[in-house]
Amino acid sequence: MQYHESMIDLVGNTPLIKLNSVTEGIRATVLAKVEYFNPGGSVKDRIALRMIEAAEASGELRPGGTIVEPTSGNTGVGLAIVAQQKGYRCLFVCPDKVSTDKINVLRAYGAEVVVCPTAVDPDHPDSYYNVSDRLVRETPDAWKPDQYSNPNNPRSHYETTGPELWEQTEGRITHFVAGVGTGGTISGTGRYLKDVSEGRVRIVGADPEGSVYSGGSGRPYLVEGVGEDFWPDCYDRGVADEIVPVSDKDSFQMTRRLAKEEGLLVGGSCGMAVVGALEVAKKLGPDDVVVVLLPDGGRGYLSKIFNDEWMNDYGFLEEGEATDVRVGDV
Ligand code: PMP
Repeated sequence: MQYHESMIDLVGNTPLIKLNSVTEGIRATVLAKVEYFNPGGSVKDRIALRMIEAAEASGELRPGGTIVEPTSGNTGVGLAIVAQQKGYRCLFVCPDKVSTDKINVLRAYGAEVVVCPTAVDPDHPDSYYNVSDRLVRETPDAWKPDQYSNPNNPRSHYETTGPELWEQTEGRITHFVAGVGTGGTISGTGRYLKDVSEGRVRIVGADPEGSVYSGGSGRPYLVEGVGEDFWPDCYDRGVADEIVPVSDKDSFQMTRRLAKEEGLLVGGSCGMAVVGALEVAKKLGPDDVVVVLLPDGGRGYLSKIFNDEWMNDYGFLEEGEATDVRVGDV
């Protein structure tokens, strides 16, 4: 019989898919590492599994313990799936600006979600930060993964994403491009590829304009999951050879093109990373192989990036780009 013991067995080993349309005029091969094929639908399943297994091994997470993390998105889904399969409780803390759809996804997987007011000072006892700290202190057998500082976040990529890319490209990868959030993906994958190629593979970060990684001052941007206003411990400042800043508009327009032209319904940080990858690839020749990592799928963004009205409100749609065709138009 061919079957997997549980969804946990399906974490990682995601496919590489060639981009054929958005790459028009580019001579290099551009391949996408499509992370929505993970069981929880994002790259974060990799770090969830590695962080939990390491905490079990070190004794920080005891049988029947509770995982407490401030998260509203992909990391929460990954943690919730691994936790339910291994018999842990999940207690997540989210700010109230997070959409109810995202909170419902976490609850669907069995996590408990505490929603905190956004409109209070960080020092207020009900603030997002204080509530998660208090829950860790007050819950018996609580363990907080802390994806921003946990070394098992980049380590999961050093041990899985990096070796997968090296094998899948038979060592022919010349450039690796990824968005930077906690920095785990680029630091772990990038370090592995540098080590295995003796420094030959170039590592490129893509970053929202305004974020610290590309020299910004923390100016707000709309792409989710990437960019920071501080330097997380998981980010290895020595690994990226180059950081490409990308605007919200370019990120979202590329995200829509990926769905329409490549059959890839992916999130906004994927569009951002592809813009960065094409920026690099356009200067390269036919022997170059650029791999760009796409962290998640697009279904969590249907009411934003894939909604003409929302795109128009922000001035992100060009003339003739609307997809909302009315009866009178055809
Ligand atoms: N894109 C999305 C949608 C994410 O959730 C994240 C993780 N915050 C990233 C990109 C960036 O990955 P990393 O945290 O490994 O830098």
